[in-house]
Amino acid sequence: MAKKTIADIDVTNRKVLMRVDFNVPLRDGMITDDRRIRMALESIESVLSGGGSVILMSHLGRPKGTGPEPSLSLAPIAQRLSELLNCPVAFATDAAGDDARAKVAALPSGGVVLLENLRFQKAEKKGDADFAAALANLGDIYCNNAFGTCHREHASMVAVPRQMKADGKPAVCGFLVQKEIRYLSEVISSPERPFLAILGGAKVSDKIVVIDNLLEICDAILIGGAMAYTFALARGHAVGNSLVEPDFVDQARGMLERGSDKIMLPIDHHCGDRFASDATKQVVENNIPNGFQGLDIGPKTQEIFAARIRDAKTVVWNGPMGVFELPPFDAGTRAVAEAVAAADATSIIGGGDSAAAIQELGLADQVSHVSTGGGASLEMLEGKSFASFELLDDR
Ligand code: AMP
Repeated sequence: MAKKTIADIDVTNRKVLMRVDFNVPLRDGMITDDRRIRMALESIESVLSGGGSVILMSHLGRPKGTGPEPSLSLAPIAQRLSELLNCPVAFATDAAGDDARAKVAALPSGGVVLLENLRFQKAEKKGDADFAAALANLGDIYCNNAFGTCHREHASMVAVPRQMKADGKPAVCGFLVQKEIRYLSEVISSPERPFLAILGGAKVSDKIVVIDNLLEICDAILIGGAMAYTFALARGHAVGNSLVEPDFVDQARGMLERGSDKIMLPIDHHCGDRFASDATKQVVENNIPNGFQGLDIGPKTQEIFAARIRDAKTVVWNGPMGVFELPPFDAGTRAVAEAVAAADATSIIGGGDSAAAIQELGLADQVSHVSTGGGASLEMLEGKSFASFELLDDR
């Protein structure tokens, strides 16, 4: 069911309490990548231009939950946001206490205030009802624009909108969440075919449910990264010293049987005698010799995968094809990224490492969607729905 967005309601002279994901990387108090802040601007600006004011709430990093930690304060984010919006952004030194109430009371129409890190108290992660009620009291309208946290049932994600709905206030989504759900749920559940999934990364164990779900709905699944070696073991191939998960070989075998016509594994591997750029290297087919570990898909696999990607009409990609942080073992990930970018298809990149790879390669604007949520995008690919989204008002 489609959900109402911030554009579907009248915000004139109303205070919109917007949950955003401003969990940006910081070094020495400086923001090193402000993409997550920029991704929220459209929704914030929409409220401001509609004559409303905005109360922003977010977490940042992993505070202990026992009080303020200056290194994880959102204060530098308020300053950056003010530059990006080109208007003043007030900052409250707590999330739901005296300063938050005072700053919200002083908020003019068209004003913006950012609350301090929600996770400075354990109440946020616990979904505490009193904390949620204090936050809910601050706003007239709730807006979820924090896709990266949508899979969490934290206070600001679930208890706050529930409380606000109980108080007769609207609860809607922001444009970022709307776009993420459109690609990661709606496109994937009724894809244009052929529908291809590309999965990589370190562990099979992290992606078992994803593979199970995608086997039902995809036409083919290409598997690379270290997780391919657990599948190779299940096929009876030698894997040398490659990273494997012996406890998951049986499950991998089961998936290979069930998806025999869909799962494609690498046929050659770029190996090293150790985990280093200057390792002694060789490309081998099928069996990996003792003393070597597979660190990337090989050139033949790159070609086969690229050809499959070229023919697809919907592509979803999650996880690198090799140790892409360690050239030359980034070649497989680069080949896949370039093929996805060039494909005449709806192309969806899951958050985390594959999103980082497509951005580093400068190809992000050549795909349909790059998710901002690592864990959340993986759970969407598992076919899960989120309470934080389901409870929002239907259109
Ligand atoms: P994940 O967090 O599961 O998406 O995995 C990403 C990590 O998997 C990256 O840090 C990669 O370096 C790592 N990775 C991918 N392929 C391999 C491989 N063949 N051997 C060891 N690590 C790998």
